[in-house]
Amino acid sequence: MAGIGTAGTAVGTIPFLPKTANTASGEEIIDIHQHVNFHARSNEELLAHQKKMGVSKTVLLPSGSALAMGSTHKGKSNGLAARVFGTFAAARLAKAHPDAFSFFCNEIPDVEGADKELEKWLEDGALGIGEQKFNLDCDSAPMIRIYEVASAYEVPVLLHFQHGMYNKGFERFHKILERFPKVNFIGHAQTWWGNIDANHEQKNLYPKTKVTPGGLTDKYLADYPNMFGDLSAGSGKNALNRDEEHAVAFLDRHQDKLMLGTDCADAVGEGDKCSGSGQIANVMKFVTDPKVRAKILSGNAKRIIKPG
Ligand SMILES: [Zn+2]
Ligand SMILES: [Zn+2]
Repeated sequence: MAGIGTAGTAVGTIPFLPKTANTASGEEIIDIHQHVNFHARSNEELLAHQKKMGVSKTVLLPSGSALAMGSTHKGKSNGLAARVFGTFAAARLAKAHPDAFSFFCNEIPDVEGADKELEKWLEDGALGIGEQKFNLDCDSAPMIRIYEVASAYEVPVLLHFQHGMYNKGFERFHKILERFPKVNFIGHAQTWWGNIDANHEQKNLYPKTKVTPGGLTDKYLADYPNMFGDLSAGSGKNALNRDEEHAVAFLDRHQDKLMLGTDCADAVGEGDKCSGSGQIANVMKFVTDPKVRAKILSGNAKRIIKPG
């Protein structure tokens, strides 16, 4: 656990302003997944989007350096393949609006000095590492180096799992969970969500069929105390909407492991163009117990990420 205070007991006294005016229930919402300059969205629009969704605090996930390497698909995946800015921009915005934002740090894992770069930002207020979205095996030597930094600093790592593209070898990730018990890993994206289904076809990134429980993701969440799930993006929303009966049971059985995130690049913060607000509505609808909802909307993030 991080050395500062005892977050577990301090939760009730953290000066969170519960001004979630836009959620009918007024429940506190922490968004663990957003980006600066996401498809060139301005900071002003990012702030307005946050408010519209009723989010009180957002975690900014930066990109790594812009370099043409195998791990960045020769530069095509620079900026997380979405024009996202690096740690400096996330840190700058979070420091200008500490009530609204916290930030992670990031770097291309196999670039020279990646570990030192991450350590520099972890010393300067970064709360975790990610979004790690690079063309590498999830258990490759450069990724191990990332996990070692996370372990030394006792911070979470957020990973974008996408078959054949990013953090490959999801079926072997349990070995990482076993090797780094002090690191809280947060799973995200298509391959993470597709694998809630025991019958998942790995090439299908947005499956629409009914879910058979017991997929890899279901197992990792159930079996490993250091595995968590990020509900963000079209993939997270699809995972709940493809089978709503399954969604109710899944959210209930992993209520201590799932965290609300949005990861949408729109400026409106509502309606069909905003998957984030759609996913918030899903949680409101599929989780009827307010205590469970509070864990998924903010409590788990406070415990695992400690966004202050
Ligand atoms: Zn993202
Ligand atoms: Zn949105």
